[in-house]
Amino acid sequence: MPTPRIVIVGAGAGGLALATRLGRTLGKRKRAEIVLLDRNTTHVWKPLLHELATGVLNSSMDEVDLRGHSSAHFYRFQRGSLTGINREQQMLQLAPILDEEGYEVLPARELAYDYLVMAIGSVSNDFGTPGVAEHCHFIDSPEQAKAFQRDMINTFLRYTDPNLRQHTQLTIGIVGGGATGVELAAELFDASRMLNAYGVTALDNQQISVHLLEAAPACCRGFRNGSVKRLKQSLKRWA
Ligand SMILES: Cc1cc2nc3c(=O)[nH]c(=O)nc-3n(C[C@H](O)[C@H](O)[C@H](O)COP(=O)(O)OP(=O)(O)OC[C@H]3O[C@@H](n4cnc5c(N)ncnc54)[C@H](O)[C@@H]3O)c2cc1C
Repeated sequence: MPTPRIVIVGAGAGGLALATRLGRTLGKRKRAEIVLLDRNTTHVWKPLLHELATGVLNSSMDEVDLRGHSSAHFYRFQRGSLTGINREQQMLQLAPILDEEGYEVLPARELAYDYLVMAIGSVSNDFGTPGVAEHCHFIDSPEQAKAFQRDMINTFLRYTDPNLRQHTQLTIGIVGGGATGVELAAELFDASRMLNAYGVTALDNQQISVHLLEAAPACCRGFRNGSVKRLKQSLKRWA
């Protein structure tokens, strides 16, 4: 009987753990071929994205290289972005891979599977609010977190311009007072301290106001009351 191929799409928290477990069991004994597919070649632990966004975390030190990881754990990593599934033929359609200049490195192609696991995660919901998709940063992926970081550093740099310096207040709005929003708010103050230490001194903590917007009466719903109270006190102390 031919060895069945199990394809897992998405090397996030769920997909990577599953590929590792299946690789160490079925893959190692050659009872199945385990293939992990992701559009990126590295895995960054998503709960740390807000730290990547503020520059507290250095992604090149904290990411897992999927090629290296796959060979150590008896599964095969394939880079590719899923665009469609042909269920009758048990075939995945993958987008072409382009280089940094947009030239095609690999054309669109297919990947056959016997068993398929979808682990492509989720993205933030903007609830169709006009303007949000075009004008807000999202922190759902390492690329988005790095884009936020670039924007933040450039904004700080812009404030070194004496003309801008006169308007000395920088206001940052965070929509969503869950754990990520609260952590990001706190990290932003650390980030500004860090930038000051690195010589970007146009703005200090007193000139940054962070607004955390939450529809519910309190942030971090689901946390114990005592924790929410302490959290609020800490945020107010920083603000
Ligand atoms: C900023 C932030 C902070 C968080 N903090 C916490 C926390 O403190 N505690 C907690 O429990 N949870 C936290 N979460 C939630 C947690 O990270 C997610 O629940 C978890 O990552 C979901 O795992 P997953 O494997 O389903 O998807 P993900 O980890 O999102 O992984 C999805 C993977 O699929 C890949 N992918 C997507 N589409 C395609 C495609 N078309 N083709 C190929 N590959 C694709 C992506 O590149 C990614 O690698 C946080 C999330 C965020 C964004």
